[in-house]
Amino acid sequence: MAYWNDYYTPHTIEEAVEILGRYEGRACMIGGGTDLLLEIQQGHRPRMDALVDPTRIEGLDQIVEEDGWLVIGAGVTHTRIVNDPRMRQHGTCLVESCGVIGGPQVRNVATLAGNIAHALPAGDGTIGTLALGGEVQVAQASGLAWQPMEEIFIGPGQSTVDPKRMLIARIRFRPTGEHEGSAFRRVMRPQGIALPMIGMAARVRLAGEQITEVRIAIGPAAKVPLLAVKTMQALVGQTPSDKTFAAAAETALAEVQLRTSRHRASAAYREEMIRTQLPLTLAKAVERAHTGQAEPEGVGA
Ligand SMILES: Cc1cc2nc3c(=O)[nH]c(=O)nc-3n(C[C@H](O)[C@H](O)[C@H](O)COP(=O)(O)OP(=O)(O)OC[C@H]3O[C@@H](n4cnc5c(N)ncnc54)[C@H](O)[C@@H]3O)c2cc1C
Repeated sequence: MAYWNDYYTPHTIEEAVEILGRYEGRACMIGGGTDLLLEIQQGHRPRMDALVDPTRIEGLDQIVEEDGWLVIGAGVTHTRIVNDPRMRQHGTCLVESCGVIGGPQVRNVATLAGNIAHALPAGDGTIGTLALGGEVQVAQASGLAWQPMEEIFIGPGQSTVDPKRMLIARIRFRPTGEHEGSAFRRVMRPQGIALPMIGMAARVRLAGEQITEVRIAIGPAAKVPLLAVKTMQALVGQTPSDKTFAAAAETALAEVQLRTSRHRASAAYREEMIRTQLPLTLAKAVERAHTGQAEPEGVGA
């Protein structure tokens, strides 16, 4: 059985939106297809009359600097993000989160836009982008608009971006600068196929010995990729230390909703991982903010 009849590679965003509109819900966006095609193959979603691939739209296959933002086009793969020197220095947690997705074959075709559009609470690239303060540019019949990423998620696998009618055209974030750093850590079951248990990312800004700004994302820790707002608020004005980070982990534990999943981890194990790994994630982000050195760690071979 063919999973689609027509495959489009439009040259403009407007054309992509027009094709989606023409098919009235029987066409959808495709990035690398690493989630979408498996889901169709396994019968978790219906086959499509048409797929719309944004990778030929001019500019969407690039990472550019624009008005003080780092902007990632919808066609940019995880491999491209991992290898980009600007991303490594100024979006380190995003590089570390994209760098653990699947294996090289997956990362060579899968896109960050697809990871975000899929809206899974544990999407690794999603967690990295959320911690950086990422925004998505959504294109639909009414035009283009930027939105903070945390506003698009509405439930597991659900977002306000309906890929049958709209597309994520670009993703952007403010690059980390002086006295800023970010880090991502993921705990997974290494036997056989890698099954991630929990991932977390943090971005911090320091002034002297004080944390002045911080963002923390954790997943899966709620029905949507979680921005740990209460933990962020509690950390502002604090001096980084083991004690501060241990207290932050306890605050985070009070705002997460952890589930037991049969093949991955129990809620109790995930709780313990937040207790041990969140302080390490924060400490690494602070170390990078202090030293300005941001060599990404844990990127898969
Ligand atoms: C073996 C394997 C291992 C994996 N490991 C991981 C992992 O460790 N961590 C992880 O997070 N994920 C993992 N994944 C899932 C997947 O690879 C990632 O989520 C990937 O980033 C999806 O991107 P894609 O471009 O392939 O999306 P696609 O499969 O093309 O699309 C996914 C969804 O997003 C929509 N979509 C795609 N692009 C757009 C767009 N521009 N605008 C609007 N909607 C769009 C599609 O319609 C679809 O609903 C794995 C997958 C496989 C097969």
